[in-house]
Amino acid sequence: MVSVIRDICAIRGFFFQGMTDESIDQRIERLQVGGVIDMHFDLPMALYEKRERKNVLETEFLPELDAGKIGVVGVAIYIEDRYLPDAGLRVALDQIARLFVETQACQRFVVSKAYRDIEKTRKAGKIALLITMEGAEPLGTDLDLLRVFYELGVRSIGLTHARSNAAGHGGIFAPNGSSQEGLSRFGRDLVRECETLGVIVDLAHINPAGFKDVLSITTKPPIVSHTNVRRYYDIERNISDDQIKMIGERRGVIGINSVLVSPKGNESTLDRYVDHIEHIANLIGVDGVGIGFDFFEFIYCQWPESAKKELAEKLTTPHFIPDLRNHSHAGNLTRKLIERGFNDEQIEKILRDNWLRIFKAWL
Ligand SMILES: [Zn+2]
Repeated sequence: MVSVIRDICAIRGFFFQGMTDESIDQRIERLQVGGVIDMHFDLPMALYEKRERKNVLETEFLPELDAGKIGVVGVAIYIEDRYLPDAGLRVALDQIARLFVETQACQRFVVSKAYRDIEKTRKAGKIALLITMEGAEPLGTDLDLLRVFYELGVRSIGLTHARSNAAGHGGIFAPNGSSQEGLSRFGRDLVRECETLGVIVDLAHINPAGFKDVLSITTKPPIVSHTNVRRYYDIERNISDDQIKMIGERRGVIGINSVLVSPKGNESTLDRYVDHIEHIANLIGVDGVGIGFDFFEFIYCQWPESAKKELAEKLTTPHFIPDLRNHSHAGNLTRKLIERGFNDEQIEKILRDNWLRIFKAWL
């Protein structure tokens, strides 16, 4: 017995010795090796716009995803205004088609549809893509189409972007003035059907009235895939303390967005990004916070000045965080979380484990 205890002490001593010798880079590596989960990325739209080219996923996205040790990405179908209303369904299907073609061409990616698929994909050292939908426009008012998109692999839906549609109304980019109306009858039916099928209901972008409606008709843990706290950027597109608490009560998860951390460019920093994480952790615990980077500088940069001006007039001017601009920068976030005093368990929850819990509950 004594020798067993001595052995255990020796092992622990070795372990702690190992911990002290670990450099910060090694610690970052260890925390990220299980894969970082980003629940919001406009990949399908980007692939669709580059549909004349081959192997876009492999050549333009894989290097950055690998550099940031990204393991799972929620890839969002999004339909730009110029395609609506008539081409919404068509473009959504084409975006999914590009995902299938591109993942066939590059075997490092797997479109994953269930929690077990995600686990299997990760064990194989591949990147799991979870297809999501940002705005229900592709469905029009046809609930049966939800089943079609489900069969194609869609596993999360946010009912609206900033605009209104048949399901409900988006939160505007101002402190107040969003529609006071909640979900339409179609929106309510859609939410119920999502929960029945196993399509995660995402509360990002929805107006405050719609937010309440969704929570009142669902029972599973809700998510807000990509948002920011109103304490640091006070617009109805973002999330208030009361809303954060509502998500916490239901054991949901809120992903922090990297492009709306502050209305001011000079305050759009990695520290401010972590302030958003900390704010949510203080209100509902670290179990309630994850990542939804929403990196889109690569799209924004390619727009003509007129499109940038239009975005600024319609919504806002995004301020990109200099050292958190794309997936290759994920290690910078891990480093900052360490510097700010988060422990290993907390960091792994933020980077991955909280989203995995949601996937396990829904998929
Ligand atoms: Zn969005």
